[in-house]
Formats: sequence, structure tokens, C-alpha cells
Amino acid sequence: MEIKTGQANMNSNLSIIMYHYVRDLENSRYPNIKGLDFKFFINQIEYLVKYYNVVTAEEVIHSIESGDSLPPKAALLTFDDGYIDHFTNVFPVLGNYNIQGSFYIPVKAIKEHTVLDVNKIHFILASTTTSEIIKYLKSLIINYSAEYEIQPFDYYYKKLAVANRYDNEEIIFIKRLLQVELVEELRNKIADDLFLQFVGIPEYLFAKDLYMSKEQLIQMRNSGMHIGSHGYDHYWWNQIEEEDLIQDIDKSLVFLNEIGVDMDNWTACYPYGSFSANAARILDGRGCKMAVTTRVNIAQLDKELRLFLPRLDTNDLPTEMNGATNEWYNKA
Ligand SMILES: [Zn+2]
Repeated sequence: MEIKTGQANMNSNLSIIMYHYVRDLENSRYPNIKGLDFKFFINQIEYLVKYYNVVTAEEVIHSIESGDSLPPKAALLTFDDGYIDHFTNVFPVLGNYNIQGSFYIPVKAIKEHTVLDVNKIHFILASTTTSEIIKYLKSLIINYSAEYEIQPFDYYYKKLAVANRYDNEEIIFIKRLLQVELVEELRNKIADDLFLQFVGIPEYLFAKDLYMSKEQLIQMRNSGMHIGSHGYDHYWWNQIEEEDLIQDIDKSLVFLNEIGVDMDNWTACYPYGSFSANAARILDGRGCKMAVTTRVNIAQLDKELRLFLPRLDTNDLPTEMNGATNEWYNKA
């Protein structure tokens, strides 16, 4: 693939900031969901507007293609997974400051009113205690062992329950079991069982509340927001067969076209950050102009490959702040 890079003596540093849930957590139905509280979001936007130059996806594409410099302290704001938060909370704030966000949409969730597995797990965890979930999981594993070739519960717990910097061992266990360890069909079934047991709202209705609608996306696009591909099924792009990957990307592009995205300047965001050389090659073949990952770093357009751009999580941002207050972050 042809990679164009900026000129070495010009600014090509770009802080690409990644957001997921942005909501008034305290007053929401699920105050324990792991998201950015709305008031901290507003503070962060005020901070970014003051100390950074928030650029558009189109300006970044232009810089990649022409080698023209970005403004100093350039930042691009990205919002993953098509949450209603982005229409209700984020969009008006960006409008107030006349800045652009880039929104990466899992199309199936919006078109077919399904809930992403990763979101099911978030809301299961936010609805009950981890010990209740684990108790129920134990019984489900016993029940499904008649139908599937699976190991005893203790085998999985020993293998998977290792805490990391974000989650304790029980939460890690639940996430890994349901995201990676079990075969896809079984982990979907178990996620559905847990969702029904602990969240108790029909998936179709829950999806309508959780994600934006197509009409809302059209409204945002018409107001200058950038809407990009995040796949159709929210698959791990580096783990599926090439044929399935091509289909997944193409189905997402049909949707982008339907909502009026400029198909000569489309961008992508790897679901779960699942980039690979092969996935990038397919994106490139479809004309993708840039793609973002979840690798943590400031992007450098003169060094980084344009289809593998790293990002900073909204919670990582304060570590990059130079000399400015980050009190709001410490309170988070
Ligand atoms: Zn995602």
C-alpha cells in the first residue's frame, strides 16, 4: 500500500482522543457503568479548546495526503460505538464550541437493534455484584456442559482471573470468559442468559435506548460531524476470515453511504482496536483514508502509518497535559 507522510520539519503530532460513554452517571439508571461523567467531559472540552487546536478528520486526511502541517497541539476527538450519549450529550457541546467529533458506528446495533456483547457485559456488571454473576455463571457452565465441550468452572477461574490496572480478578474473569475464552456461540448464549437474569430488559428495547438512530446520525453528519466505519457486526477484525472481514467492512460502507458520508474521505476505527496488516490492506483497498486503533500514544503523521494511528483514552489525557490543572481528573 502507498503511505504518504508529512514533512519532517513541520508539526505532525496529533492527539487523537478516544471516548466511549459520556453521561451524567449519578443521575443515570446505571451509575456504576464505567464512563466519563458529563461534567468532566465539559471540563475536558473546555481544556482542549483552550490549550489545543481541535481539528477535523478532513484536515487530518488533508495533512496526510499533502504533507501540509497541522496546527500546533492538534487534537482529534473520536467517539466509539454509537451510544445515544453522543447525540444527547456530546453533539450539543461540540456544537457550542464549533468543533468536530468523529463518530464510529457499529452498524448492526443501530440497524437491527441488537446490543453489542461488550455492552451486555458492561450493563450486567453495572446491574448486580460480581459474586452474584459468578454464582450464576457456575450454574450456567454446568448446564451447558451437556451441550458443549467445556471445562469445569475452576479451570477457567484459575486460568483467567488475573487482575490488571483497570479491573479486579473477578471482573477480569467475567470479561475474558465472555469475550474470548469460550466459543463464540456459547459465549453469546451465556451473555444473553446473564443479560436476561440481571438487566432484565428485552434486548431490542435496550438497544433503542443505548444507541443513536439512523436519523440522529444523519442530523449529526449534516451539522458537520464526521461519521466513520466501525464495522457492521463489531467483530475482531484481526481474528475473522478475510471473506467475512470484507463483507463486514462493505456492509458498514453501505450504511455510511446511506447517511450521506463523503465516500471519498471515509475513515475507520478497528473494533476492540483489532488492527492487523491484513485488515489495513483491505481498508486500503476500499479507499479508507485513515484508521485509528487503541494503541496508546500521540499520533505522529510523519511517522505513523495512517491506517494504524494510536489514540489517547480520555482518562489518559491528563498525563499528557503540560502545566495545566488536572484537578477535575483527580476527582474522577
Ligand atoms: Zn467498539
